[in-house]
Amino acid sequence: MTPIRLCHLYPDQLNIYADRGNIAVFRSRAERRGYELEVVGIGVGETLAPECDLIYLGGGQDREQALIAPDLARRGSEISRALEDGAALLAVCGGYQLLGRGYRDRFDFEMPGAGVLPLETVAGEGRLIGDVSIECELDPGEMLTVVGFENHGGRTLLDRGAVPFGRVVHGFGNDGESGFEGCRLGKAIGTYLHGPLLPRNPWLADWLLGQALARTLGEPPELEALDDELEYQAHAVALRRARERGGKLR
Ligand code: GLN
Repeated sequence: MTPIRLCHLYPDQLNIYADRGNIAVFRSRAERRGYELEVVGIGVGETLAPECDLIYLGGGQDREQALIAPDLARRGSEISRALEDGAALLAVCGGYQLLGRGYRDRFDFEMPGAGVLPLETVAGEGRLIGDVSIECELDPGEMLTVVGFENHGGRTLLDRGAVPFGRVVHGFGNDGESGFEGCRLGKAIGTYLHGPLLPRNPWLADWLLGQALARTLGEPPELEALDDELEYQAHAVALRRARERGGKLR
């Protein structure tokens, strides 16, 4: 079967809170359905692999973001082309912020962004930290709960008309005020949720794998159900924590 080609941008710099674990989930869930996952690490100065089905960026602190921001800003059109060609994308926290137009950190240092997502981010007073639950609609009419852990100083403002990834039920989300979490642009998702995110939200992993496969297959294939008992338990624990503790401003 055709392999799924995943381009992992800046694996050495953007990998906080075990965000790399998201790739392990993509691999395991793809392989158990008979699809090979080919992961290509893309560092500063390297170009995206051709025939890219899925792009992934993890989170990172301001210091790590500053190391890769100029390079990422230069590849905005390369990423947009891959999306137009049908690739799916997942970006977490620091990677999500820098897919917008830019990020101004707490020392007023301006990092340029790739300009792929319709948003910008500015550091605010205190950090938004805690367990989060959101509701999102990946496919029309199908409401899903997604849970994760957020820890960010940046406040992200979506442009007017931009679509959030989800609506905050517990926690802060993009800015602690708008009720929006993340951003969705077609098959591209940016989110503040770490965890890693995918082990406790297997439906999101499958949605992204399906969208990635649709690049070559024309539409997302029916993915065989897996035994997700442990994943459901992990989801329930995170949801309970989000309900009981929510986010705290620190
Ligand atoms: N440096 C960014 C912030 O604090 C992102 C942090 C992260 O990826 N957790 O806003």
